[in-house]
Amino acid sequence: MKKIYILLIFSLIIISCKKEKVDLIVINSNTYIVNEKFENAEAFAIKDGKFIAVGTTEDIEDNYKSKNTIDAKEQTIVPGLIDAHCHFFGLGLEQQNVELRGTNSYDEVLERLIAFQKEKKTSYIQGRNWDQNDWEVKEFPTKEKLDKLFPNTPVAIRRVDGHALLVNEAALKYAGITSTTFPNKIPGGEIIIKNGKMTGVLIDAAMGLIKSPKTSKQQEIQGLLEAQKISFSYGLTTVDDAGLDRSTIELIDSLQQVGSLKMRVYAMVSADNQEQIDYYINKGIIKTDRLNVRSFKVYGDGALGSRGAAMRKSYSDRENHFGALIYAPERYQEIAKQIAASEFQMNTHAIGDSANTWMIKTYKEVLKDQKNRRWRIEHAQVITKEDFRNFENILPSVQPTHATSDMYWAEDRIGKDRMKGAYAYRNLLNSYGKIALGTDFPVEQVNPFLTFYAATYRRDLNNYPANGFQMENSLSREETLRGMTIWAAFANFEEAEKGSIEVGKFADFVILNQDIMKIEGNKIPKTTVVSTYLNGEKVYSK
Ligand SMILES: [Zn+2]
Repeated sequence: MKKIYILLIFSLIIISCKKEKVDLIVINSNTYIVNEKFENAEAFAIKDGKFIAVGTTEDIEDNYKSKNTIDAKEQTIVPGLIDAHCHFFGLGLEQQNVELRGTNSYDEVLERLIAFQKEKKTSYIQGRNWDQNDWEVKEFPTKEKLDKLFPNTPVAIRRVDGHALLVNEAALKYAGITSTTFPNKIPGGEIIIKNGKMTGVLIDAAMGLIKSPKTSKQQEIQGLLEAQKISFSYGLTTVDDAGLDRSTIELIDSLQQVGSLKMRVYAMVSADNQEQIDYYINKGIIKTDRLNVRSFKVYGDGALGSRGAAMRKSYSDRENHFGALIYAPERYQEIAKQIAASEFQMNTHAIGDSANTWMIKTYKEVLKDQKNRRWRIEHAQVITKEDFRNFENILPSVQPTHATSDMYWAEDRIGKDRMKGAYAYRNLLNSYGKIALGTDFPVEQVNPFLTFYAATYRRDLNNYPANGFQMENSLSREETLRGMTIWAAFANFEEAEKGSIEVGKFADFVILNQDIMKIEGNKIPKTTVVSTYLNGEKVYSK
């Protein structure tokens, strides 16, 4: 009997020795691994920042051991989410300003300024989005209270439409003027005056009197870290920043090297100056585990809301107005030719049907028969019917919440006929076979579950319209999740290292509060993140 007992212990030791030691094990989960067959798994094991096994709870427990095991208790897990088009750095910079949207009185504006300054202690307070129409007293504010609260710190806060600015005396002084000594007239602008003195409100061109300081390096770093914190709380583990300058890319790289910035960044280089294009093309692709610099962001046209998008025919609500390309048409050919001769990817912002047609033609001309360059069109918002098939070799990168933000007025701009080819994500997906999804934050909210809802149900948060907006162009839930994970990774040439929970890939994953693939449609926007893991490390938990 004793012998058998010893033998049993001995064999147990052998069995447990056979188990590989890993850094983290997750069991009993409902995991969408987003592989080719879109399969589920219960469990996975992580070592050195990568998934090393994926399978059933039994498989994983039999073969691996770890000091850290998460019993997911049937919670839903998806791969780390990717925002294929956003302004991560821009979001960070925005955090360095006071958000005044939704204030119900001028006093509430002041309260927010006080709270902000208590936290940030900046030497120059800037803010945005106040709107006196939301207040009880619907008149322009005056600066007296600001002067009392901030006698020595300049304050400059912008109205919601960007056409008016309220400043205090310290801000005037910073700009080299005072409320009693100011220019008589500003062409294209107005200085609001009361009893011969400035009230602090400046309209349009008069806003140019105020010179605010450039953001400091410290604010930029603070901004990136705050943007990271927000993004992790929504399950993002990779952000495609659509347009960065060299100095910002180098700052991101240095913060990643010291480990303070953990977010993976796909940095599209701004192609708005030739020197920067030359610099990166000469340098070649820069690729680390967290940074990938191998694409240029080119600015094609403006936006539909402000009628800046380049249209083939006149806007429906403004006669003989077509919007415009940002550069001369030949400039796009020149840029495209240079990028085509390198290893880089070209990603062009194109909203209007004319901008899209022009970029399609330009891409075709320079790429000739090259099939796998994965050049992208960002937004691809209004597409003329004949152009959809041209997306066969152009990767569409779209932001579904733009559809549900614009649906109230887009038809006024372009009319019923052209609307059929607008926000047409299904048609674009059918042409290319993949679609990359993003938000364009901070233009839209960061929350990727709003993207998920907009793509699948095409309704706003009040469930309008009841049957969805142009539902023939909705995506299935599976396609939407792919668009936010593996297809977005593909759009970044990163599908071998991320975008799914498969052996060998980075251990980036997100635990959700509900099963986004099965929950009732109108509950999708209520999805929240329980915790976010990047490289096997917990970077956020509720
Ligand atoms: Zn953008």
